[in-house]
Amino acid sequence: MLIDTHAHLDFPDYSEDLDAVLARASEAGVSRLISISTSLESSARAIALAQAHPQIGAAVGVHPCYVDESPEDILTPLRALVAHPAVVAIGETGLDYHRNATPPEDPALLSAWHANRARQARFFEQQLQLAVDSRLNVVVHQRDSWEDTLAILRPFSGKLKAVYHCFGGSLAQALELADLGFFVSFTGIVTFKNAAIAQDTVARLPAGTFFLETDCPFLAPIPHRGKRCEPAHTRVTAEHVARLRGETLEELAAHTSAAAAAFFQRR
Ligand SMILES: [Zn+2]
Ligand SMILES: [Zn+2]
Repeated sequence: MLIDTHAHLDFPDYSEDLDAVLARASEAGVSRLISISTSLESSARAIALAQAHPQIGAAVGVHPCYVDESPEDILTPLRALVAHPAVVAIGETGLDYHRNATPPEDPALLSAWHANRARQARFFEQQLQLAVDSRLNVVVHQRDSWEDTLAILRPFSGKLKAVYHCFGGSLAQALELADLGFFVSFTGIVTFKNAAIAQDTVARLPAGTFFLETDCPFLAPIPHRGKRCEPAHTRVTAEHVARLRGETLEELAAHTSAAAAAFFQRR
């Protein structure tokens, strides 16, 4: 049994054929799916999906790339949403500096740049505190923001568990997170030829410290690269990771799914 710990099942990519997508996941041995949210609206959709399909759990939260279009107060609506029994995590939340890596020279744009970064940090901290209050763990999105993300998260070590999803970092970085009681998870990127660092990391990490995910509809593994990704592809990634680690698919599935199952529930 495999778990796709990060799927954007509420995206319009699946509105036409979700039942077929779920059937293919089940046929591939992917028997549990976590639908990850990007906004308040997305969070409500994830809960509705989890209510309609027993194999789906919902993570609710506001993604760092969606903070500007979210209301000033995300906590009041999120508090109402996390009360739902289908909710198994907060996320995804975190910091994404990819689109705004360096401050713009135009002073008119500079204040918006600072405001976006401050809003990302505030929403991240608020969602971490909500996770503590609601006894849930957190799915973290980190892109080009390693130091700042860790600075915000570190004080929450011991109060909650976090998973750095779509992990592409080094073994040393993954072990630094494991020391804080945090996890990492790997997408189909580990099947790409240019992903030597992530492949080395996933090959050497101790069992119980990492999960598998698709991040679908993005990041389809080889041989599906460039096409729409879907939860069934967790199986392709798992077969590749098992080979890298010298484990059987069953062995890999057992420890990644046990770690993920313990993570995606109320503490
Ligand atoms: Zn993400
Ligand atoms: Zn995602």
